[in-house]
Amino acid sequence: MSEKVIGRFAPSPTGRMHAGNIYAALVAWLIAKSQGGEIVLRIEDLDRERSKPEFIDAVQRDFEMLGLTWDHGPFFQHDRDEAYAAAFNSLVERGLVYPCYCTRADLHAASAPHRGEKLVYLGTCRSLSVDERAAREASGRKPAMRLIVPDEIISFRDTIQGEYSQNLEFDCGDFLIRRSDQAFAYQLAVVVDDAAQGVNCVVRGVDLLCSTPQQIYLQDLLGLPRPTYGHIPLLVAERDRRLSKRDHDASLDALLARFGSPEAIIGHIAGVVGLAPTTEPATPEQLLSCFSLKNLHGRIQIAWT
Ligand code: GLU
Repeated sequence: MSEKVIGRFAPSPTGRMHAGNIYAALVAWLIAKSQGGEIVLRIEDLDRERSKPEFIDAVQRDFEMLGLTWDHGPFFQHDRDEAYAAAFNSLVERGLVYPCYCTRADLHAASAPHRGEKLVYLGTCRSLSVDERAAREASGRKPAMRLIVPDEIISFRDTIQGEYSQNLEFDCGDFLIRRSDQAFAYQLAVVVDDAAQGVNCVVRGVDLLCSTPQQIYLQDLLGLPRPTYGHIPLLVAERDRRLSKRDHDASLDALLARFGSPEAIIGHIAGVVGLAPTTEPATPEQLLSCFSLKNLHGRIQIAWT
């Protein structure tokens, strides 16, 4: 028998959900439920400053209202430091990690822009001498920690975007696994959590496609299983403006005011992205009958308004 599909909702509680977050959760839910699978809810509150308790409650109420149910959790990243530390320490013990003292300004000055937004770290702090390192320590600057990446191509088949590959050294560079404020970095936390929570089917926005090779590399180093990945197109507003939690026009409250009901929001999103033949109101449950992965195409963005 094949393995049960375990998908996930992984919201960051830094604002109310917007249409793009709902779209990602809807596809994750449909993929899992259409195969008799289950959903994990994980609240990604790694960023303690930006995560707010009111959004933690709101995001759960929003999923419930939309009919996007979950079977396990909520799990919280703020409870998981021990697990992240164990993974981090195992990488340190293998000599794969080094301290990086670069400031944001240094990073911009010494990084090669690549693949749109991503900056490639050129390894400035990888080869610091003992004296150089001591001088930086003495200045009181707290280092972040980077993982050394090899000159190696990581390839995978995305269930929505198709083949994707990246040479970690040239397309990404040594990447952060712990920030200078001691918080573990997203890439490390997400990989440790997906494995611990049994997630074997990841669905998220295409803006995270370029992070996936880093996560696969970490899974390989840590001996963790590799989930399947599907990256959905971004929903964009007028003039290709990206939706963000700051854009009130796309927040759930604004969507409710515009569409009138949760079913109307779900139906509209489903129709616009091609998950349903019309934009008529629908629940996620009702969309199951016409859901097929084949209808999801690998466009990079879809106009929302
Ligand atoms: N927490 C991220 C977000 O809300 C998603 C991360 C992921 O799916 O890996 O955008």
